[in-house]
Amino acid sequence: MEKAEKIEKAEPDYKIGRELFSESEISRRVKTLAGQVVSETKGRDLLVVGILNGAVIFLSDLIRRMPAELDAKIDFMSISSYGNATQSSGAVRILKDVNSDIEGRDVLIVEDIVDTGLTLSYLLNIMYTRKPASLRTCVLLDKREKRQVEVKVEYCGFVIPDVFVVGYGLDYGGKWRHLPSICELDSI
Ligand code: 5GP
Repeated sequence: MEKAEKIEKAEPDYKIGRELFSESEISRRVKTLAGQVVSETKGRDLLVVGILNGAVIFLSDLIRRMPAELDAKIDFMSISSYGNATQSSGAVRILKDVNSDIEGRDVLIVEDIVDTGLTLSYLLNIMYTRKPASLRTCVLLDKREKRQVEVKVEYCGFVIPDVFVVGYGLDYGGKWRHLPSICELDSI
């Protein structure tokens, strides 16, 4: 047996557990968040930067709640954080950068979840060096009690306890991103 296979076998199996937020609860909250972002956007342009892959579904719902008068553009970044495990490795690096020029733009970072804060704080530090006119962060979920580094979050969908969640863009080993609601992960 290959080493990687042995490690995989030693890990517990998981199943979808309790639903934390239903599709309609998420939809209502996303609408409210979009309203807040728009009302606090001073200019007419907004560059919305989604962090792949987890924020894709959240971002697509969020921007569709923004009015046509706002010139919202989208771009994406990919940053390594968890891999397939449920624990943060602390290792953070850019796998894919934005295509847009950030300088002088009003930028909104859209992230699925902030946990230790390492990923977001690393990302914000990079973004600041690019001199945006403003830089705000919108996260769907916040595991505040797990924070290791302080990080600025202007818009937050829901604060959650220290449980591992899947659905609405969030995965476990690539699975369950497509679930319309947000659920806890349970071991079998
Ligand atoms: P941080 O650097 O804040 O510890 O971790 C942020 C990243 O960890 C998120 O972008 C996400 O990929 C992953 N993560 C943290 N908690 C969870 C969770 O409960 N479920 C899933 N699917 N990913 C999580």
